[in-house]
Amino acid sequence: MIPSHIQALILDMDGVLWRGDAPIGDLRRIFERIRARGLKVAFATNNGTRTPEMYVERLTSFGVTAEPWQVVTSAQAAAELAAEALPPPAPPIFSENGGSAPQGRGGRGVFAIGEIGLMEALRAKGIETLPIERADEAQAVVVGIDRQITFHKMVEAALLIRRGLPFIATNPDKTFPTPRGEIPGAGAWIAVLVTATGREPVYAGKPAPTLLELARERLGTPREATLVVGDRLETDLAAAQAAGMPGALVLSGVSTRAEAEAWRPKIEWIAEDLEKLVE
Ligand SMILES: [Mg+2]
Repeated sequence: MIPSHIQALILDMDGVLWRGDAPIGDLRRIFERIRARGLKVAFATNNGTRTPEMYVERLTSFGVTAEPWQVVTSAQAAAELAAEALPPPAPPIFSENGGSAPQGRGGRGVFAIGEIGLMEALRAKGIETLPIERADEAQAVVVGIDRQITFHKMVEAALLIRRGLPFIATNPDKTFPTPRGEIPGAGAWIAVLVTATGREPVYAGKPAPTLLELARERLGTPREATLVVGDRLETDLAAAQAAGMPGALVLSGVSTRAEAEAWRPKIEWIAEDLEKLVE
């Protein structure tokens, strides 16, 4: 079903590869088929709580071979945006006796609310994640889901945002699915900051295009040859359209065929699931 000009797939995971702990179809076979067709693969998720290594482990447990570079999270896309928003790193200053002078202020530090996935992504870009006692030194605020959120953290973030610092958010998802139901997601906490500051963040995750752009850069394929596969119209497919890449909706997750057929601009491909798509 995938036309021959497509060279790579950017796959959403939840609702495309698995639902909770249950795989959707025979993933091992599906990925053998993808490999046999010579398609490159990246995995793109709005969930910024886990590191790419953690996703590789999960993929492996479902029989899918992947390397960390193939996994792009909204936390990494947010770190990318933060790196762009911060002043360039200061060149080392050498004193007369040859030692380097202490850097003092002017480092690249942010106040981040998030979990390990976000903190590691920021550090990987050479950005310091400041402890709350040093929040004042921050040059940007980066917010994602944090299951250790406190009023204190929200206060510091709000004060910095009100001061006019760049305000970057991982993803706008209002809820987060759990076996017990939908619990507050990153978007719910971001809404508190938006209400308290009157400012909107720049989003990294879907439906904004940054996450998909980062994945495509790693794949090294042209936009029109990179197919975005997702199960949710208003995030996955909207992001594909914002990024100027073709999109395929699989019906194994959130959105229905009727919703997909009513969606404009038109979705290029609709398939029952990933297996049918790569058949
Ligand atoms: Mg999904």
